[in-house]
Amino acid sequence: MTITAQGIRLIRLDDYGQLLGESEVAELRAIAAPLRGRTVEMVNSTAVGGGVAEILNRLVPVLEELGLAVRWDVITGGNDFFEITKAFHNALHGGDYKMPPESFDVFLAYNEQNRARLQLDAEFIVIHDPQPSALIEARREGSGHWIWRCHIDLSHPHPAVWSFLEPYVLRYDGALFSSPEFSRQLSIPQYLFYPCIDPLSEKNRDLEPEYVGSVLEHFAIDPKRPLLTQISRFDRLKDPLGVLRAYQIVKRYFDCQLVLAGGGAADDPEGGVVLEEVRQAAQGDPDVHILDLPPWSALEINALQQASTIIIQKSLREGFGLTVTEALWKKKPTVASAVGGIPTQVIHKHTGLLCHSVEGCAYQIRFLLSNPAIAERLGEQGHQHVREHFLITSNARRYLTLFLHLLDFRRI
Ligand code: UDP
Repeated sequence: MTITAQGIRLIRLDDYGQLLGESEVAELRAIAAPLRGRTVEMVNSTAVGGGVAEILNRLVPVLEELGLAVRWDVITGGNDFFEITKAFHNALHGGDYKMPPESFDVFLAYNEQNRARLQLDAEFIVIHDPQPSALIEARREGSGHWIWRCHIDLSHPHPAVWSFLEPYVLRYDGALFSSPEFSRQLSIPQYLFYPCIDPLSEKNRDLEPEYVGSVLEHFAIDPKRPLLTQISRFDRLKDPLGVLRAYQIVKRYFDCQLVLAGGGAADDPEGGVVLEEVRQAAQGDPDVHILDLPPWSALEINALQQASTIIIQKSLREGFGLTVTEALWKKKPTVASAVGGIPTQVIHKHTGLLCHSVEGCAYQIRFLLSNPAIAERLGEQGHQHVREHFLITSNARRYLTLFLHLLDFRRI
């Protein structure tokens, strides 16, 4: 790893080799060899913030280092466009759609504007999520391969929004979904592309024990007693009150502590309300640490995760659940609800324990606290599971394999 004069850590492919084994990187180089010099264009709607930007920030340099010529373009639009695409997002997740009928024309006008601005002439064009999906209009006979990468759960979309978007989606060569449960019946090929984490990022890299100790001290957490942690936005669907009730049950049997750490409460009115409810419910228990963290807290979150005895994710609904991926990567015994993408990650009694209620959550935590050897084994197996399926290197491998497959497909 190179550290620049400004103190920025530059991550190189070889750094992944050191961490994951040289063969992992050698394999990536071998798969990428026939693709050297091929052009790729990734298009999404934001350069920072959110999981998609976070993945592209790492994926693009990795593919470039492997010899592909990658462009990353971000579409632009006014507030009216992003209000509409936010409404699309909620509607595609099964919510209501209350925007006026002209919203579809506004959406298309902004896509048209971006179509005129962007090159869209690469051999592989990967369009992320619904916002830029109508860019497919730029497709010409015999031009590159067009892929639609859907990061959201499309299993129960609002019919009006989906029937508007579907004709565009069906013009792509394939669609990538994060989980089989998130996909739909489509007449184009669909591929499973798990989300991923970067093991070398601030959120996930190994930390010095002294730093972890200093974070615990900063938050007045006792390093000697068991620590249960849930990292999540203060959102009802993450069920922080349920976590607190599970902790209160466990506390009758074990002298443990609870961390509920999350951010977003300051700029989300509902987050503020939920945070206040949790504070009330904790009734001043000095062993409950409710931490409202600013957005630049990756290292602190990493330290809290590394310091935890057990990590909980008691969501009532969930997307993929990257906090679970992060916990498993850190070899933490994990107790999580069987919702969304969590069961793909937490294979019950193999990589962690699943639960379906407050009582079930408390029961599984007590089981793990009473059986540290089993807890350790689950943590190890969880780490292996993430290593095989949910790292940035696996994600890059999937893209490379898909590109090879598409080239081959055309030759036949
Ligand atoms: N996260 C964070 N700060 C917080 C709460 C969460 O950085 O205060 C991170 C967390 O570590 C994870 C992501 O945000 O990387 C949350 O992703 P997940 O899929 O678990 O849930 P979402 O918030 O997208 O529903």
